Amino acid sequence: MYLKTIELHGFKSFTDRTKLEFGPGVSVIVGPNGSGKSNIADAIRWVLGEQSARVLRGSKMEDIIFAGTKKRKPLGMAEVSLTLDNSDGLLPLDYNEVTVTRRTYRSGEGEYLINNSTCRLKDVQNLFADTGMGSDGFSIIPQGKVDEILNAKSEERRSIIEETAGIVKYRNRKKEAARKLQETEQSLDRIQDIIFELS
Ligand code: ATP
Repeated sequence: MYLKTIELHGFKSFTDRTKLEFGPGVSVIVGPNGSGKSNIADAIRWVLGEQSARVLRGSKMEDIIFAGTKKRKPLGMAEVSLTLDNSDGLLPLDYNEVTVTRRTYRSGEGEYLINNSTCRLKDVQNLFADTGMGSDGFSIIPQGKVDEILNAKSEERRSIIEETAGIVKYRNRKKEAARKLQETEQSLDRIQDIIFELS
């Protein structure tokens, strides 16, 4: 799996629809200070479901929508699409190419799409679970993160290793199964009580 394209429209400094194309291997984005390099990393995090405006270097989510300049009016919507090459099948979808889109309006409404079909945030999170590319994944290492990992407590470091090793999915499934088991045990207790009362 690799990132093939990013299309941005109305996201931070990207007023006009802008498409960036990447190939397999290493790509580098260069540009002067303030030209929007970090905004591209923010856009990737955002599509992957980031919910914190602070992580996206804003104070409220609306800050990700183009705010206007002296020459251009503010926009009412931001939209970013990531297209990933999935010919190795790492993403659990039967497509060689997967496009994930997130859209948000100033009103606060927004939506997620996978291959142009509306979906829930949870679907986007599940799609990237344990691929290392989720919004909590380590596909984006911001400035200072390496120091943070080195200085982390052992439990925090363990969770980082678990995420990169791809076992978080199984941990979540185990938690869900344990919850269902507990519910079933409670239902059984209730049935036992009813049988006792009736007999
Ligand atoms: P550096 O090399 O200094 O880290 P950079 O290339 O990473 O810079 P960014 O931080 O990505 O630059 O971009 C900052 C620019 O994005 C600023 O000019 C800022 O005004 C602009 N910007 C951020 N949010 C918005 C917004 N909502 N609307 C319009 N412009 C925005």
